[in-house]
Amino acid sequence: MSNRVIYLDNAATTRVRREVVDAMLPYFTEEYGNASTIYSLANGAKSALQKSRDVMAGILGCDSSEIYFTGCGSESDNWALKAAAEAYRARGNHIITTKIEHHAILHTCQWLEKQGMEVTYLDVDENGLVDPGQLRAAIRPTTILISVMFANNEIGTIEPVREIGAIAREHGILFHTDAVQAFCQVPIRVDEMNIDMLSASAHKLNGPKGVGLLYIRKGVKIRSFLHGGAQERKRRAGTENIPGIAGFGRAAEIAAATMEERTGRERELRDYLIERVLREIPYSRLNGSRTKRLPGNANFSFQFVEGESMLIMLDMAGICASSGSACTSGSLDPSHVLLAIGLPHEIAHGSLRLTLGHETTKEDIDDTIEHLKEIVAKLRDMSPLYEDFMKGGRERRGGKNDVQ
Ligand code: PLP
Repeated sequence: MSNRVIYLDNAATTRVRREVVDAMLPYFTEEYGNASTIYSLANGAKSALQKSRDVMAGILGCDSSEIYFTGCGSESDNWALKAAAEAYRARGNHIITTKIEHHAILHTCQWLEKQGMEVTYLDVDENGLVDPGQLRAAIRPTTILISVMFANNEIGTIEPVREIGAIAREHGILFHTDAVQAFCQVPIRVDEMNIDMLSASAHKLNGPKGVGLLYIRKGVKIRSFLHGGAQERKRRAGTENIPGIAGFGRAAEIAAATMEERTGRERELRDYLIERVLREIPYSRLNGSRTKRLPGNANFSFQFVEGESMLIMLDMAGICASSGSACTSGSLDPSHVLLAIGLPHEIAHGSLRLTLGHETTKEDIDDTIEHLKEIVAKLRDMSPLYEDFMKGGRERRGGKNDVQ
C-alpha cells in the first residue's frame, strides 16, 4: 500500500481535465471580451459560447437555443421549479417530486410550500426506485410539474425517467429532471424521454466549478430567474462566464465522446469493488439498485460502525470518500436518502459512498478494500454494540451446540 491520495469522491466533485483547463485559459487573457458587445475583440467569446451550446444540444438531442447556462446545478434546479410554479400558477399549485432528491430540489420545494404550493414527495422502494404507478396515482387536476432526478447522488440509483416522461406527457404536465449526476454518464435524449427541463453541472464531469445548465424545451413558458441584462436570450441575466462555459463545453465533449469506454471501465471496477466488499467484510450491505446504478457509484452500510469515524480513518490513509450522514451541516442525522430506502438509523449511520472516476485504477480499489477491511475491524473492536452482538451470537451458538 502506498501513501498517495486515492480520490473516490467523484460524485462530490471531480478534478478538471488538463484539456479543459487549456480550453478555458485563452478566455481569461487574450479573448476576454464581453460576449454582449459588438466589437471584434469579443468574437472569440461569442463563438466559445455558441460552441458550448452546440455541444450540449448535440449530447441532449435538442436545439442549441434550448440550452441556458447558469451558475451551478443548484441554480438550474431553483430556476426550473420556482419559475414553473410562478408561470403555471393559474393552471394549478401542485408539484410532484420524490423523497430522495438533492437538497437543491427538496429545499426549493419546501420554500414553494411556504408560498402556497402543494408538494407530493413520492416514496421510493428499497433500491431507491420511484414507482411510475404511484406517480400516476399522485397526479391531480392541479398538478403543474413533476420533478424526478435522473440518478441519485448518494446511492446511484437511475430512475425510470422514460416512463415518468411518458406519464407527464400523457397528462400534459411539465417534467423536469435533475441530471447533475447522470449527464454524460448515461445516454440522455430529451425528446425521446419527454423531458421538458433538465439540470446539469460542469464540476461533476471534470469541468470547472460554478457553471451549470438548464435545458428548457421550446414553448415552456418559464421566465427569467436572475433579472438584469439580456443575456441567455433574456432569460438569465449576468455577463456570461465564458471561461467556465468553454470549460464545460470541452469537458462535456470529452465526456460524451468517451462515455461508452470510460463508463464500461468504471462499471467493471465498481462491480469488482462491490463484490469484494460484500464478500470480504462481514455484516456489510450495498445500498441502491445492483443493476440500475450509475457506473461509478458504490454505497455500502457496515453494521456496528460510524460513517464519520470511517471517513476520518480513510482520510488518514489518504482515501477521500463520503458518508451517509450530514455532519457538515452540523447535525448527525442520517441521510434522507438512506432513510427513504428503509434503512434503520443505526445502519444508515454506518454508510460509506465511494464514487469512481476516469482516473480510478484497480490498484486504488485494491488498496481501498485492504484499508477498509482494517478500519471496519478496528472500529468494531471498539464498539460495545458489536461486542454484545458477538457475545450473544457465541452464547446462542454455544446453547444450540452448533459450532462444529
Ligand atoms: N443535484 C444533484 C443530484 C447533485 O448531486 C448536486 C451536487 O452535488 C446538485 C444538484 C448541485 O449541483 P451544484 O454543486 O453544481 O450546485
